[in-house]
Amino acid sequence: MSNTETHPAEMNCAAGPDGTRPALQVLTPRDVPLGGPRAMRVRRTLPQRARTLIGAWCFADHYGPDDVSASGGMDVAPHPHTGLQTVSWLFSGEIEHRDSLGSHAYVRPGELNLMTGGHGICHSEVSTPGTTTLHGVQLWVALPGEHRDAPRDFQHHVPEPVQLEGARARVFLGTLAGDTSPVRTFTPLLGAELTLLPGTTLTLDVDPAFEHGVLVDRGTVTAHGTPLKHAEMGYAPPNHPTLTLTNDGPDETRLILLGGPPFEEEIVMWWNFIGRSHEDIAKARRDWMEGDRFGVVTGYEGDRLPAPELPTIALKPRGRAR
Ligand code: MN
Repeated sequence: MSNTETHPAEMNCAAGPDGTRPALQVLTPRDVPLGGPRAMRVRRTLPQRARTLIGAWCFADHYGPDDVSASGGMDVAPHPHTGLQTVSWLFSGEIEHRDSLGSHAYVRPGELNLMTGGHGICHSEVSTPGTTTLHGVQLWVALPGEHRDAPRDFQHHVPEPVQLEGARARVFLGTLAGDTSPVRTFTPLLGAELTLLPGTTLTLDVDPAFEHGVLVDRGTVTAHGTPLKHAEMGYAPPNHPTLTLTNDGPDETRLILLGGPPFEEEIVMWWNFIGRSHEDIAKARRDWMEGDRFGVVTGYEGDRLPAPELPTIALKPRGRAR
C-alpha cells in the first residue's frame, strides 16, 4: 500500500458515558483515497494526531468489503519503503504482490505476507482479475534504529486457526491463545485475527509489557468495558495481564488484535518512508527519484509511482503519543 495522504485530519477521542476518559482510548478512522481515477478508499486509524504507534505498529489501513466492479479494486504501482515492514492480511479477495527482492506472491485470506523494507525495497500490489470483493488490512511496523537498514526480506505464513469457546483466533505474529507465529520480527509484536460468536466473552492472557489495539472489522465489541463500533480501534495501555472482549451484538464479530511493547524511539513518517530525521526522508526521496537504492519490480504493467514533493517545512520526529 502506498500512502497518498498529505493532510491528516484531527482525531476524535470519545469520552465515557459519564464524560470521563474511557478504559480504552477510542481511535476513530478517517477516510483516505488510495489515489487513481476510481480510487479505492481506506479507513486509517494509525497514525493519527493522538497516537502514532501501538507497539511498533505505526500504520493501520482497513478497507472493504469493496465491490471491485465499482471501485476498480487495488492497483498500486511500484513504490518504495524504508525503515518499516508491511503486513498484508485479507478477509476476502486476492492481491498479486511483486517486489524488488524478486518475490512474486499472492496475498490470500488468512495468509500473512510480511515484507521488510529496511534499507530500501519497492513493490506493487494489484487485486487479481478473479477478485470480486476486496476486504482486508494493510499494516506497517516501524523498525528499531539498530535494524532500520535491514536487508530486503519477504515472509509468508498461514496460521492454523485456534478454536476457543465461542471464538477463533488466527495468530499471524507473536503469541496468543497457545499459538506462536514463526515469523521473525525486530521487536516483540502481536498480530491476530479474532472472531467471536454473539454472546461470547473472551478473556485472553496477554503480555503485560505490551500495549494493544483492537480494530473492529465486523460487528461490534466491548473491550475492557469500552464499546467499539465498526472500524474503530480501541487502544489499551500496558500493564493489563488480560484482555477481555465481549460480543454483545447480534452478529459474529471479527477483530484484528495488535500489540507490542511501547516503541520509545521518535520517528519521522512521510509518504512511504520511515526515518529519524528530515534528512533521512529527503535522502530516501532523492534515492527513489534518481538512484538504484530500491531495486526494480519486474512484471508490473505501468509506470512506478513518483514521490510527492517534500513539504517546505522540515519534517519533525514524533513519539508514540502526544
Ligand atoms: Mn506499500
